Formats: sequence, structure tokens, C-alpha cells
Amino acid sequence: MHSLIFHGTRRVEYGEWQDPQLASGQVLIQVAACGICGTDMHVYHGMPASWPVPGVRGHEFSGTVLAWADDVTGFQQGDRIVVQPLIYCGHCPSCRAGLTNLCSNVQLVGGERPGGFAERAVVPANRVFKIPDSLDLQAAALTEPLATSVHALQANVTGLLRRVAILGAGPQGLFAIQLARLGGAQIIVASDVIASRLELARHLGATHTFDARSSDLAQSVLSLTDQEGVDLVIDAAGKSVTRTLAIQIVRSGGTVVFLALGPELTALDFMSIVPRELKLHGTQCYTDADFVRSIELLATGRVNGAVMSTVFPLSRGAAIFEQLTIDPGDTAKILLTPDGGY
Ligand SMILES: [Zn+2]
Ligand SMILES: [Zn+2]
Repeated sequence: MHSLIFHGTRRVEYGEWQDPQLASGQVLIQVAACGICGTDMHVYHGMPASWPVPGVRGHEFSGTVLAWADDVTGFQQGDRIVVQPLIYCGHCPSCRAGLTNLCSNVQLVGGERPGGFAERAVVPANRVFKIPDSLDLQAAALTEPLATSVHALQANVTGLLRRVAILGAGPQGLFAIQLARLGGAQIIVASDVIASRLELARHLGATHTFDARSSDLAQSVLSLTDQEGVDLVIDAAGKSVTRTLAIQIVRSGGTVVFLALGPELTALDFMSIVPRELKLHGTQCYTDADFVRSIELLATGRVNGAVMSTVFPLSRGAAIFEQLTIDPGDTAKILLTPDGGY
């Protein structure tokens, strides 16, 4: 079958890959659409990962059910589905505590195992989630990135939101803006360096947007809140500059969630963190419950994913990975769809 095959740092080609074979407990999926994730880009740029090379990546995908193993029940041919790509072990201390997103033996479909940058994929049956008719297959491919934002807020927000800042208006930031709006926030600040993303941010609910390069950004945010600072900052950029800014614009006693994974080492001012009782939180992926919630949010239209998506044929995938490296341009989330031809 045709796949996008990863051969190493900045080496991807569209070519022929062995057809996936059904094993016990698995379902065979015809891939409809698969999103390119920031993590895929980091690995493309050489971030170390325990993922096989050559290999097929892609962990944000939707599709239809083609077949299933003899010991699998509950599916019909053509069932419309989305894949929850985290295969957790169920028996490590984290899994036993219900923290399946922190499983120490986790395997990723599209990481350790072949994923959705291909025509077909096999997936354990319990990682296959059916979607309602109201959710189209391309929008369904956004369930996984949305689930990451849902988890970040579910785990860190109690009650109604008031003042929120979201640093970085890529897909994660744009989802977080929409969730903050749903949570009732009256001030939602967004920053980015790409003007079209800031326009999307406003369209999706940001009340104030700023160019992240402006030198008085911290002061601009503080002046919106009577110098108090916002209750919650979500760092959806993962850079030293956004981590530092987050500490400057959060109120005393407030929360910073570091959502984006970035390899930069960052020195933070602990004289500002400790005496002000800031809560600094990491966040990792999502649980099955977050995933189900994300399907609902997309299917009911409460969260809009289509507006931030651009679709390209899988056969152009190699060029697109390179283009994203050189200049992502106006795109936010890119989806690749198998097109059955070279
Ligand atoms: Zn992802
Ligand atoms: Zn586990």
C-alpha cells in the first residue's frame, strides 16, 4: 500500500509499505485523514524517539472499518471511527491509578507502531472509537489534538474561568481558546507571531490578541487585568520566551500549564514563583474520557476544527514536511488524505 515512510532526520518519502496484517484483537482501518502533529515535526527534525526507522508515523487519524480479527466483536464494515493512539498497558502503577496517559509502557500508534500516514492501519479494537454521523471524517482526525487541550483544561480548571492567556495560536492554542470560551472566560488573551493565526484566534473567541514579538507584551496583558495578571496561562508554544512570559503575566496564586513540548532548556525566575505561590503544571496527552469528550465537542460543533485545517494528498506529504520546516505560512493544522496514487 502507499505510505509516507520516515527514513530519518528530514528524510521522508512517499512509497510502498507492506500491507498491515490483522492479528488477534485488532481492527483493520481504511484511513480517511491523518493530521501532522508538532511531535511528528520534532521527530522529523531529529528529536530522539524510540520509533522504528524506517517507519510509518501519523497518530491523529480517522477512517472506516474494513475488517477485524476473529476474536473481535462489535464492529460492522464501514463503521466510521477515530483512533485513540495511546496503547497503555493497564497494569503499571499509573494505569492502576487511572492515569493511563502516564502509562510507563505506553506505545503509540504512529510511533512505536505503524500509523495513519498510509492507506490502511491495524489498531487494537479498544483503541477504535466510533463517531456520530454529525461528525465528518476530516474533522474527526482533530479529535486527538483536541483531546490534549481538553485534558490540559480538565486537569487544571475548577469552576468557571475568568481571565486566561494562551501563548501560541497553533492548533493546540486555537483549541484551548475555544475551550476557555466554553468555560466562560471573559478575558481570553492570545499571542502568536503569525497574523493569520491571530485572526483565527479572534474568530474562535480570543478577546485580545498580541504579536508575540512585541516588547511590551507582558505590560499589555497586565494592563488588561488592573496589573493583577490572569488566572490561567496556557503555554501552547513551548519556548523559553513563552515560559518566561507566562510567569510574568499570571496572577499571584494562579496557574501556568505547560502544554507544548519544546526541547529548549529554560531558566525561570523562582523569586517570582515561590513567594507568589504559582502553580506550574505539565500536561501529557489524554485519557479515554478526554477523548470521548473531544468527539462530543467536535460532533456538536461546540469546538470548530475545520476552520483551522488544510487538507493535502498523502502523496505530497514529504514536500509538506519540508515546507513546514522552512516556513509554515498561514497553515495551522494540516491533514493528509490517502489518494491512491503516486
Ligand atoms: Zn499529536
Ligand atoms: Zn500502564
